[in-house]
Amino acid sequence: MKKRIVLLGPPASGKGTQADRISAAYSIPHVSTGALLRSECEKDTPLGREADEWTSKGLLVPDDLVVRIVTRWMDEHGPSFIFDGFPRTVGQAVYLDVALQELNLPLDLIVLLELPESEIRRRVSDRLSCTKCGATFGATLHGLSLGDACPRCASPLVRRNDDNSEALDRRLEVYTNQTEPVVDYYEKNSPKLLSRINAVHGSDEVFGSLVRILGDA
Ligand code: AMP
Repeated sequence: MKKRIVLLGPPASGKGTQADRISAAYSIPHVSTGALLRSECEKDTPLGREADEWTSKGLLVPDDLVVRIVTRWMDEHGPSFIFDGFPRTVGQAVYLDVALQELNLPLDLIVLLELPESEIRRRVSDRLSCTKCGATFGATLHGLSLGDACPRCASPLVRRNDDNSEALDRRLEVYTNQTEPVVDYYEKNSPKLLSRINAVHGSDEVFGSLVRILGDA
């Protein structure tokens, strides 16, 4: 059974949705560093205030801050996880490898969800998010508008502070410059663990591909 999984992919590639589905089907905790940071931000903690300076501009939060939040999460929940949006830099990937080596529990699977830029832009401009349960919805696909009740938990749907075209330009640049090297890092160091999925397909089809990969456990 694969218990330590990393999901990589550009904004709106469906990492959160697929991590939720794997989590429910295989009982592995889903950890989104973006959601952990947003929660700190909403609670107005010093860490949240520091993170907001970066996230609101579409920039990556510095590694030391993200490592702090991930270390705290692993101390509280143990080393079984689906990471969504972590690691996003080679420094974070090295930190994770070292932390897991110390526990003698290596990563089991790395999945890259691939999506062309035109589809990323279309999805982000149409995306509504729930700040309470973290679910995201395509407004057009689901017939939802800003402020509508989240179909899952009934909290009002919002547009994320970084789901605008200016922040998206920066997030895409950051993805190319800082996160694509993480894929190269895993390709070099853990080629057998890395799988690629075309995320342009619908959620069910992408999940089916994931289940086939996870079924090889
Ligand atoms: P996400 O919800 O994964 O799209 O993340 C939203 C924002 O949180 C990102 O644009 C970054 O500013 C920040 N963030 C999330 N995860 C990380 C990470 N692993 N490293 C640095 N910044 C992160």
